[in-house]
Amino acid sequence: MRKKIVILGSTGSIGTQTLEIIRNFSEHFEVVALTTYSNIELFLSQVVEFRPKYVAVMEPVRAQEFKKIMPEGLELLTSTEALMELASLNEAELVVNALVGAVGLRATLAAVSSGKVLALANKESMVVGGPLVVEALKKGGKVLPVDSEHSALFQCLVGEKKEAVEKIYITGSGGPFRGRKWSELKGVGVSEALAHPRWKMGPKISIDSATLMNKGLEVIEAHFLFQIPYEKIEVVIHPESLVHGLVEFIDGSIKAQIGPADMRLPIEYALFYPQRLERVVDRLNLNHLTFHFEPPDLNNFPCLKIALEAARRGKSYPVVLNAANEVAVYSFLKEEIDFVTIPAIIEKILEDHNPVEINDLETVEKVDRLAREQAQKIIKQECGF
Ligand code: MG
Repeated sequence: MRKKIVILGSTGSIGTQTLEIIRNFSEHFEVVALTTYSNIELFLSQVVEFRPKYVAVMEPVRAQEFKKIMPEGLELLTSTEALMELASLNEAELVVNALVGAVGLRATLAAVSSGKVLALANKESMVVGGPLVVEALKKGGKVLPVDSEHSALFQCLVGEKKEAVEKIYITGSGGPFRGRKWSELKGVGVSEALAHPRWKMGPKISIDSATLMNKGLEVIEAHFLFQIPYEKIEVVIHPESLVHGLVEFIDGSIKAQIGPADMRLPIEYALFYPQRLERVVDRLNLNHLTFHFEPPDLNNFPCLKIALEAARRGKSYPVVLNAANEVAVYSFLKEEIDFVTIPAIIEKILEDHNPVEINDLETVEKVDRLAREQAQKIIKQECGF
């Protein structure tokens, strides 16, 4: 029996790598639905190859263009609810959420609430809607992390009792600017910030890795995913990017997951869990490998400090953190603001925020919208865009 799979965001970095694995193990999967935001050229080739029953193009103009070129017999969903409809599709067994940004939350909730197994690459949905996802999971559904650090932690935690966990460590390479002073980063170009030394990733997460915001978001993601208090979660810089996560137990023993820096490994683990497949990526040769660990430099990477503070404050602070960050990162990618302005914008909006409890989706979306508007306003006022 082939597993029926839905991939939300199939033309992004995680989406294309997921399809690459499915291509190599086609006897295991039947692709029932694919979605893209606007990359209809790549999307068409995916649709022709993987023959899904349902597709969605979220950008309305591109959706109309796709309608004219798509193969016959395909059902194109165009409503704003399409991602939720496909995430909760009756026939789907496994949903991969490879969307970018807080927009992925509705799909995450739809998948979990309808009892699906969700392979989650969209960390922002856990960051902004963690309490809601945790609540929904009590009634069914399952989340398997695709984020490499969380996949590593998940693998270390298999078979262990939560009470036996002393601490979890999220590793990070330190990004392209490790060792640099923050003051030196004024004026760095988009291409420098995008040039990650270890991982091949999409633009948004590459910038988050350069500012270390990515680690902050991952701490919040881990907190909700594993239901572990923030005091027990630590970030450690590991420039080789070979150890992806570590769990320390109360007896002093530490388990680590080690592997090449290749996203296909955590994707494969989530797709086939609890099975493992042979030879998905090149094997590591342990001879002559060295591992370095160091604490993160919070003074020179303010985004991580800001994120950890927002996490500790809880309530709606992580929603604001994420919204302001998304706006600032895209603004930097469009060369509207300087790299060092990213944390300044986020900090300003967090300072002005009146926190509320996260009890429902409407609250998340309202706080998210207001924070985005405020971020746009600051960028317009201070930077002229
Ligand atoms: Mg990660």
